[in-house]
Amino acid sequence: MNPEVNLAATAAAASFREFATSPGSKRAQFLREIAAGIERLGDTLIECVNRETALPAARIVNERARTCMQLRLFADIAEQGAWTGERIDVADPSRNPPKPQVRSRLRPLGPAVVFAASNFPLAFSVAGGDTAAALAVGCPVIVKAHPAHPQTSACVGEVIREAAAKCGLPAGVFSLLTDGAHEIGLAIVQHPLIKVGAFTGSLRGGVALWRAAQQREEPIPFFAEMGSINPVFIFPEALARAPDVIASGLHASMTLGVGQFCTQPGVIFLVEDDVSHACVDKLAALVMATPAGDMLSATICENYTRAIEERANQHSVRILAKGESASRASGPGRHRAGATLFATDPATFVARAELAQEVFGPSSLIVLCKSTADFVRCAESLHGQLTATIWGNVEPGDNSDLLWTLEQKVGRIVFNGFPTGVEVGSAMMHGGPFPATTDSRFTSVGTRSIYRFVRPVAWQTPAV
Ligand code: NAP
Repeated sequence: MNPEVNLAATAAAASFREFATSPGSKRAQFLREIAAGIERLGDTLIECVNRETALPAARIVNERARTCMQLRLFADIAEQGAWTGERIDVADPSRNPPKPQVRSRLRPLGPAVVFAASNFPLAFSVAGGDTAAALAVGCPVIVKAHPAHPQTSACVGEVIREAAAKCGLPAGVFSLLTDGAHEIGLAIVQHPLIKVGAFTGSLRGGVALWRAAQQREEPIPFFAEMGSINPVFIFPEALARAPDVIASGLHASMTLGVGQFCTQPGVIFLVEDDVSHACVDKLAALVMATPAGDMLSATICENYTRAIEERANQHSVRILAKGESASRASGPGRHRAGATLFATDPATFVARAELAQEVFGPSSLIVLCKSTADFVRCAESLHGQLTATIWGNVEPGDNSDLLWTLEQKVGRIVFNGFPTGVEVGSAMMHGGPFPATTDSRFTSVGTRSIYRFVRPVAWQTPAV
């Protein structure tokens, strides 16, 4: 057994009882100390993240604010204590047979492993939403750092360790595994003292780790958030009302952060007419004027470049527009990629499963349909998604074929907007049926995300 993994798992298990039974106010203090510690790192942290990920400083500043807001939101949840969802069935001694009293509450599952994401080096990483949710309910956390931002991970890890010491918590409530290797990740998921896992990343990585979690002698819950192509369906009447707003909004959503968002709109369905042709022309012009951008890592850039080349060689798929070419814009130490817009027809989209696979980066596929009936046909062919977007006169709760079909496939349906940008709140659902995630019942963003780390326990006492 890997000694580093074993040490972290043993320390986590040893701290579990004390942490799980600590008052919510203690865990709240811990989470608030982490937020304050991250803020105290100031520009040093921003510079470190920028150096490792090539994300622009303004984006990192926003992400830091989101990370600290999440930590404080989960601190409030821990302090208020309502998350335990206590229920009581009152005893009835006069009933035959007498009815016992049953009281139940949600309790933490135990030591958790969190796999940090590459594309949110703060908000979905060492002190990100997964860690905050698990700590809020009393699960000790072991983070497997993402190899693309090791120093950022080490800095934030140190903040968490200091916060634990300041709050008088046992050191085992938090550990960081920084060695970048699949074996480490697999070993921690397979460790018998680990009771739950959370992951954000690729389909291949998520499935491998989820399988490992299920193949243990004692299988454990393992929530992996993986790929999504976030389909956008635009009805002609909506497009006619605001073609330019829709074209520029789609371009912004497609290329935001060099397309490295799990909610990036990867496929856009339109009905062919003069207005949609004009909209596609405008979108293509915007894509052509898009500068190449630095991607998060060499691997992610290579994956994107390969996926674009494969798509370009697909029969019945054509390139509508290419942005600034990656090679022209390349610089030392950077991994640059250009935006690409493709087009196909609905029959090809339905027939070729590979066109419904995520291309992680600034690329989208336009599907030009003959009528809105094709929307439903294409939606039926989709696998699980994090989001779907509808532009049209459809409203939440309508009894429409498209809406019903999408409800079976996705976690969040966006009306007359764009899928990027995930609010952190109590109603948010950032999840969806496989392969968007490994468990459609849960979200990895927002306060509902704590339910991945808890299970109900009931206490039954005799009627007297
Ligand atoms: P990744 O390759 O899935 O890696 C995520 C984490 O899982 C890393 O800590 C990695 O660490 C570990 N890992 C990966 N495969 C594993 C395996 N087979 N066994 C055990 N551990 C494994 O994700 P990534 O590095 O962020 O990006 C790669 C691709 O993932 C991208 O090109 C993109 O296609 C996709 N992606 C999707 C999203 C999304 O939100 N949908 C987000 C990010 C990336 P080690 O390599 O150290 O083992």
